Amino acid sequence: MGPIAGHALNALHRQARRKITRAELPRTEPVDAHAQYGSGRACALCGTPVSPDELEFLLYFDHPWTGRAFGMHQRCYDAWAAALGRREP
Ligand SMILES: [Zn+2]
Repeated sequence: MGPIAGHALNALHRQARRKITRAELPRTEPVDAHAQYGSGRACALCGTPVSPDELEFLLYFDHPWTGRAFGMHQRCYDAWAAALGRREP
């Protein structure tokens, strides 16, 4: 991974931690998850639409997030998961 990619990942990681702190993203394991091709909706982490040629990870959570799906780019999912401390990017 080059320095530019590493920098972008660090930025995503920081953004993920910030959103978790502000309760804009869950800090718990999803109860259900699947991947699909992008729907064009804005990513829950970076806000950029997930285009149809990219994978979108859809995550579902229990209360207080019940009924809401969080769609993220694969790299954003990885950054969010890393921010939870489950694994390193
Ligand atoms: Zn994203």
